[in-house]
Amino acid sequence: MSNTEKLELYTPQHYLLNADDMSIEALAVVSDSDMDEYEEEHAIYLAKQKDSVSTVHTLYKESEKNLAVIFGEYSNEHKYLKRAIHKGGALTDIHSKQIPLPSSIRSKVEDARNKVDVSSLHTSSTVSDNGLLEINHALEYLVNNGLKLNKDFTLTNAVAVAKSHKGTQVMARVVLDDWELNIEGEEGLIFIEDKCDADDCSANYDVYSDSDSSDLKLRCCCGSKKYSVDFAFAEGGESTTVLS
Ligand SMILES: [Zn+2]
Repeated sequence: MSNTEKLELYTPQHYLLNADDMSIEALAVVSDSDMDEYEEEHAIYLAKQKDSVSTVHTLYKESEKNLAVIFGEYSNEHKYLKRAIHKGGALTDIHSKQIPLPSSIRSKVEDARNKVDVSSLHTSSTVSDNGLLEINHALEYLVNNGLKLNKDFTLTNAVAVAKSHKGTQVMARVVLDDWELNIEGEEGLIFIEDKCDADDCSANYDVYSDSDSSDLKLRCCCGSKKYSVDFAFAEGGESTTVLS
């Protein structure tokens, strides 16, 4: 008899299980290998789910037969069971709705990569000498901005997600401002390279994307200086826009 069995409902533990709730900035920096990992866990889920669905089917067939014997084939009790199964009320049906398909995650990520203009910024997070400190500061920034660990980002992609988030905030203003950035109005902006000191140069810098690398660039209005844009994070989650 299989009716003493318990249904095994397997849930992948990968952070991409929450892809439906992730912000676009977080989705934009999901790596291909993260998606491959999720797909592997999803395959385990599929195998276990197949067993559980077959157990449910067996139990259903037995119950249906028994109800027909007890209450009669056209009884409400018999009809109720059939209806509940057809409506997808079994625990296995409910469970499957909570597990996103790898293909749907892939298309969400692709969509986010296209929408987030700054996906070409230096968003890889390699742990350097001060890597742990950098991760710590990025974590503070992300938490201050309402993003959640293991939902929107992980420890390994925290810096990338923080840069993506900050970049999206800056770009939202830049796009509204006709692809200009006022460097005096920009909080926490620092120059690594010399700032243009030409008399006729104003604080409004042009934002454009480099045709070779598609990296985001800034150009002062007189055109004599060009800068690469990056974002950094400091104590307390303070963010800086770095021009070099
Ligand atoms: Zn200039």
